[in-house]
Amino acid sequence: MEKLYEGKAKILYRTDDPEVLLTVFKDDATAFNAQKRGQIQGKGAINCAIASALLQGLETLGIPTHYLSQPQPTEMFVKAVKIVPVEVVVRNIAAGSLCKQTGLPLGQVLPFPLVEFYLKDDALGDPLLTRDRLLVLGIVNEAEIETLQTLALAINQHLIHFFNQCQITLVDFKLEFGYDAQGTLLLADEISPDTCRLWDQTQSDPTAKVLDKDRFRQDLGQVEAAYQTVQQRVLAQIQDWHGK
Ligand code: 5GP
Repeated sequence: MEKLYEGKAKILYRTDDPEVLLTVFKDDATAFNAQKRGQIQGKGAINCAIASALLQGLETLGIPTHYLSQPQPTEMFVKAVKIVPVEVVVRNIAAGSLCKQTGLPLGQVLPFPLVEFYLKDDALGDPLLTRDRLLVLGIVNEAEIETLQTLALAINQHLIHFFNQCQITLVDFKLEFGYDAQGTLLLADEISPDTCRLWDQTQSDPTAKVLDKDRFRQDLGQVEAAYQTVQQRVLAQIQDWHGK
């Protein structure tokens, strides 16, 4: 199969159907705009399983996604989309760059979910955008900004509820969207411990509770074990979620 694109965590291949692509999830991990590189054993299969379950679950709840099927543990068939070059970040609790840039203390619960837009551009370091910057750049129009915000908030509510059932707190996460051949806006990319901050509600220790890529970013150790914990809890709960 022809390789269309290789990213930091996934490879995208064409298929016989121009409207379908194959995503292969890799064990490679990067952080800080690829300045830190490594491998997380089994991550490809874990993230593919988690993302498949969550995308299917969201689809069932009325969120249009690019997910089609998971033919192999590290493989996902997805609808081909033209990616909107914006990373939509939703935050429920202060962490990461929000703390760094605003001085808010780590762990502070935000008064409302914060939706942020970042330019998807590694060369520029994915800068935070304002609404007007989005409009000036011509990446999206006002109606699309509203749609992205509404979808992101709806996804946040669904995921908060689901992760709570897994005894996991959804701190923040990053989403990507794209337009399919019919012009429908779909949730794309993945939702996984690579793209979310997830805190274990059964742990009170601030380091022990981290179940996401921050373990890799901050060299906290036990990275694989944390990803496995998320996978086990998500897969154990997912049937309930689909059924609702
Ligand atoms: P922060 O802005 O605090 O670094 O990230 C906020 C949230 O979005 C975190 O859950 C983080 O994992 C996710 N995120 C932001 N940018 C990226 C990115 O370029 N790649 C990945 N995998 N996740 C991102």
